[in-house]
Amino acid sequence: MPSYEEARRIILEQVAVLPAEETPLHGAAGRVLAADVTMPWDLPRWDNSAMDGFAVRSADCTGPARLRVTGSILAGGLPPGPVGPGEAIRIMTGAPVPPGADAIAPIEDVEEGGDAITLRAAVRPGAHVRRRGEDLRAGEVALAAGTVVGPGEVSVIASAGRVAVPVVRRARVAILSTGDELVEPGQPVGPGQVCDSNGVALAAAVTLAGAEPILLGIARDDRPALRALLERGLAADALITSAGVSAGDRDLVREILDELEVRQVFWKVDIKPGRPTAFGLRGRTPVFSLPGNPVSSLLTFEQFVRPALLRMMGHRQVFRPLQPALLQEPLAKAPGRVHFVRVRLSRRADGALLASTAGNQETGILKTLLRADGLAIVPAEQGKLEAGQVVMVQLLRSDLVEG
Ligand code: AMP
Ligand code: MG
Repeated sequence: MPSYEEARRIILEQVAVLPAEETPLHGAAGRVLAADVTMPWDLPRWDNSAMDGFAVRSADCTGPARLRVTGSILAGGLPPGPVGPGEAIRIMTGAPVPPGADAIAPIEDVEEGGDAITLRAAVRPGAHVRRRGEDLRAGEVALAAGTVVGPGEVSVIASAGRVAVPVVRRARVAILSTGDELVEPGQPVGPGQVCDSNGVALAAAVTLAGAEPILLGIARDDRPALRALLERGLAADALITSAGVSAGDRDLVREILDELEVRQVFWKVDIKPGRPTAFGLRGRTPVFSLPGNPVSSLLTFEQFVRPALLRMMGHRQVFRPLQPALLQEPLAKAPGRVHFVRVRLSRRADGALLASTAGNQETGILKTLLRADGLAIVPAEQGKLEAGQVVMVQLLRSDLVEG
């Protein structure tokens, strides 16, 4: 049985980055570039004004000077002509600097009168001029393949004149719930039955990872139905099943995956909760069989499936950030396997991160997961933890460490 770290390493070694596709820019946020973005031209494309004011020759402006205004350049316009000695042209921010001019006198440093201006101060060469190519040069790789596209990247791509960009395809992830006790949410719930919450919960987790869930629904613990659904799921980029794998179960999922030529890589991981987590492969298609317990299925998704999906979608950074935090109370633990402890986080006045238990850590308590800001990842060899001890906390949200 692999350790937590080994299981994560094995999975990431086995999954492959998906092929690229063109996506329109408005759909590119959060995707990973599959090719470099090279600038077709300089940015800015020409010397232009950083201020509203007057394009001038700095040689004319070594002290207070009076210049004749010969024209103006509107936004998006072209210079009416060059700026000659003793002359100025009115210019707007972003407009091209006319030939002859080498500086901008900002409007607030100028006194206007008729068709002339008087400068209040000297204007140094290059003042308030944005140089052609000072941001990005023609031929320069502005964004390297592997970059995650955010608003700034979209801005650069649009500035390169492009409407679409090659990105790694989103993973399509099939999700199957198994168990005779399950009913679709919304259907009448009879005695002994529970709503299939894992299907939609895992779909939500898949969506937030940037992938596309395909809900296959519920497979009864019945061979032909299960086989048909697993077969369908294997046509996706990844398949997640929940339940039907723990000891005492009929091990049907495992058996049928075998028949469907899924190579079982591991069947359990040395962690708590989430021990009955299995990983297999058919070709390069990963199959994750997660525990049925709703807390365990979400925690094991977080630890094993999310990193795999991110890697498949081209991300280099696939793990949640880890932060050291001071434990606020003792925690029982026997040495042996890695424990995930659902914790709440707060900041002490000096900025230190404090972790306290989010509540009852039994895996049946979903409420504790709702209250958790992070998971303390307690190493296998660690025994009982004392208050004041440092634990490493995996941050489950990115907005919780401020303030
Ligand atoms: P199992 O892994 O089949 O032993 O299930 C462990 C626990 O999780 C049992 O209480 C199941 O009823 C529950 N469970 C299994 N699958 C689901 C599901 N899809 N949605 C909600 N609870 C589930
Ligand atoms: Mg079951």
